[in-house]
Amino acid sequence: MVDVGVGVDTVELSLARRVAAVREQVGEAALAAGRRPDDVTVVAVSKTMTRAAVDEAFALGLRCFGENRVQEARDKFAEPLPPGGSIHLIGQLQSNKARPACRLFDCIESVDRLSLVETLAQEARKADRRMPVLIQVNVAGETQKAGCAPDEAMALAQQVVGTDTLRLDGLMTIAPLVADMEETRPIFRALRELRDRLQDRLDGYDLPVLSMGMSNDFAVAITEGATHVRIGRAIFGER
Ligand SMILES: *Cc1c(COP(=O)(O)O)cnc(C)c1O
Repeated sequence: MVDVGVGVDTVELSLARRVAAVREQVGEAALAAGRRPDDVTVVAVSKTMTRAAVDEAFALGLRCFGENRVQEARDKFAEPLPPGGSIHLIGQLQSNKARPACRLFDCIESVDRLSLVETLAQEARKADRRMPVLIQVNVAGETQKAGCAPDEAMALAQQVVGTDTLRLDGLMTIAPLVADMEETRPIFRALRELRDRLQDRLDGYDLPVLSMGMSNDFAVAITEGATHVRIGRAIFGER
């Protein structure tokens, strides 16, 4: 196994080697949990990286990219990705950026408040599309972090499901930064259990997506059911 953990000078490794290492670790974690490696989508977090880096990653087989700022993403993807490529918004979205967001992104992972749902639903209608979204949940209750409180998720989910221009695919969370990634396990498990409860109560509505796990904790997230891992530094090197 190629080690790309914290402390290794990842900047020295080529993109190809880092991508190979991430794939190997994703595959190992999936198999260890009795899951298929293909069931986990790597969202390559390309924030602060150039379009050239994105194109290089695409050539290595990565297809899904994550950006946290609308304007940066508009500039970077003014030239659309080749067919098969997709872009996820993973950063906080201000309502006044909802219009471009509904035109650029294939999924908005950071829906965290009722007022934003309203605006997104309107903009998705104007863009003449059904917009896939995730609800971002602040599971650990960290004051600095975005995301709704776990006990607000049901109301948000019902509001999204009640629109006909947004499609609720699942949940997203960011775990606290900890020294030992095992400590993140309760956070990821709690997101999965919250998803299960929402799915039960939204009778018949499928919520397949759990976007959880980043460079330093994706292996644990995968064993807890992550379908999407958002990986920046382990792929592109330190920002
Ligand atoms: C930056 C970012 C990531 C990727 O973090 P890395 O530590 O670089 O893997 C994932 N998710 C969100 C929401 C981010 O902002």
